Amino acid sequence: MALTQRSALYRRALELIPGGVDSPVRAMRAVGLDEPLFVRNGEGAYVDTEDGRRLLDWVMSWGPLLFGHADRETVEAVREAALCGTSFGAATEAEVELAAEIVDAVPSVEKVRLVSSGTEAAMSALRLARGFTNRDRILKTAGGYHGHADALLASAGSGLATLGIPASPGVPTGAAADTIVVPYNDLDAAADAVMRYGEGLAAIIVEPVAANMGVVPPEPGYLETLRRLCDVSGALLVFDEVITGFRVSRGGAQERYGVLPDLTVLGKIVGGGLPLAAFGGRAEVMDLLAPSGPVYQAGTLAGNPLATAAGLSVLRRLRDPAVYDELEQNAALLADGLGPLGRVQRVGALLTVFMADRPVRNFDDAQQCDTERYAALFRHLLEQGVYFPPSQFEGLFPSTLHGEAEIERTVAAAEAFGH
Ligand SMILES: *Cc1c(COP(=O)(O)O)cnc(C)c1O
Repeated sequence: MALTQRSALYRRALELIPGGVDSPVRAMRAVGLDEPLFVRNGEGAYVDTEDGRRLLDWVMSWGPLLFGHADRETVEAVREAALCGTSFGAATEAEVELAAEIVDAVPSVEKVRLVSSGTEAAMSALRLARGFTNRDRILKTAGGYHGHADALLASAGSGLATLGIPASPGVPTGAAADTIVVPYNDLDAAADAVMRYGEGLAAIIVEPVAANMGVVPPEPGYLETLRRLCDVSGALLVFDEVITGFRVSRGGAQERYGVLPDLTVLGKIVGGGLPLAAFGGRAEVMDLLAPSGPVYQAGTLAGNPLATAAGLSVLRRLRDPAVYDELEQNAALLADGLGPLGRVQRVGALLTVFMADRPVRNFDDAQQCDTERYAALFRHLLEQGVYFPPSQFEGLFPSTLHGEAEIERTVAAAEAFGH
């Protein structure tokens, strides 16, 4: 039955692209859809699909679009840059300006390097941490996502604080074995792992607000303890702020919670909706990168002129604190309105409706949620023209264009869903 209902476009996509999509979540299988949404264009808080629907979009390209789709200032900046040439593979003034904007905003970052994706930024930050410490092991949290580099596609072995095992075919056992995986928000597990592996530990990498298992805030003291564990063991603390950077405050989660990492990974908002990401930190560490130091890292399109123009057009506007006040207020309003559906967890303009009746503290808790019910909610909202994240384990990403009308409409649609 599903076959006959598939659009010609999806059938063609399936013939040409594995699963018909360039990133798995887009297939929407977790919420039981027969085919992906093919988006034709976006405007503000809305997208239009190829089959002629206009949807209120809470996914917003998974976070980059703080000022909405087709934001005029961004589009104009990209257009102007494109007229001057789309890539040089050479240094430009705009990349220096974007670096200055990042260093000004993010408390722990003294120097920064631009790359093209969050995956690349996280992978490079870890290589740098390993080069700086002359150690191999890293520690990550279960359900923490840092892109798809080999070492980061590791799952917990059996038992507390054991060496990791590959989370995907194709990941070498050795790459995963240097990755220790512990539950998020679990101080004892982290301390135990550092006790066991501290001498060989290059870095602890963590999303300071977990946002790839649904949104899970750090419990009081958690980030502080990770900082302390790094200080005693000599490992570097790496905050993956690809989602939280410029979202939960201008300076990211490190500003909001007052805990400073050694290295910070940025993506999504920093590129204003174009492919750009970054990693930065203390000058002493960053200067180990080639050509000023021996740790190799490079990129043909790194600091691409279109992407730096888009990033600059967005980041410059974030100096106005009113942006964050408005995001905070509206996100709180939305969270209140969605409260009856389940357990809403929110930090700034970043939230998830968990189909749970208890707090979700880690990936295990998240996996206990009623994902069938979430899928039913997703499909119900989609029928009402409201596009929620197509998975229980993702966040909603309000923009400044998600105002009262959009919130009211979403809450009304949610109320029609049987509790
Ligand atoms: C999206 C994401 C990444 C990966 O970024 P890509 O640009 O998709 O490679 C890394 N870390 C976190 C926390 C993310 O949310």
